[in-house]
Amino acid sequence: DSQEMESIPEMVDDVVTLLQPQARLKKIDIEMNVINQNIKCDRSQIKQVLINIFKNAIEAMKEPGSIKISSHLKWRELRIDISDEGPGIPEEIIHKLGEPFFTTKENGTGLGLMITRQILERHEGKLEILQNEASGTTFRLILPAGDIE
Ligand code: ADP
Ligand code: MG
Repeated sequence: DSQEMESIPEMVDDVVTLLQPQARLKKIDIEMNVINQNIKCDRSQIKQVLINIFKNAIEAMKEPGSIKISSHLKWRELRIDISDEGPGIPEEIIHKLGEPFFTTKENGTGLGLMITRQILERHEGKLEILQNEASGTTFRLILPAGDIE
């Protein structure tokens, strides 16, 4: 792969700009709180990951509300959290997420999370899924931050 130092807020901004119209149609606000640093990664692949997670968040929301995207550094990891106010994920299907073709959507492909996991693995990172207390889900993208500036 071709890995360069890439600006975290630029990658997030690009993706938010791309998906803003879809969010606006559903009256979803996007709240961004992303650290201003650069990380070594494949820009187009990490943007693809952000698109996959972000689209799922929009699709999960049945009512107006907000999606929050934030990032922080912890234990030499970059963590990017995308939180929605959707219904959350039933316990009995959570282990299936990321299996090829697993979808609960009428027109879903069930490929987004599989591709997401593959890309993060290639970056020696991973995906974590956290259930929010009230409702909704947080998808946490974790990338090693050995190369951050
Ligand atoms: P697709 O979006 O085509 O269904 P994905 O791999 O992106 O495929 O997602 C697989 C499944 O994971 C979805 O069909 C849905 O059931 C569940 N899922 C993913 N993201 C969310 C989310 N933010 N809230 C609730 N369920 C989700
Ligand atoms: Mg999807």
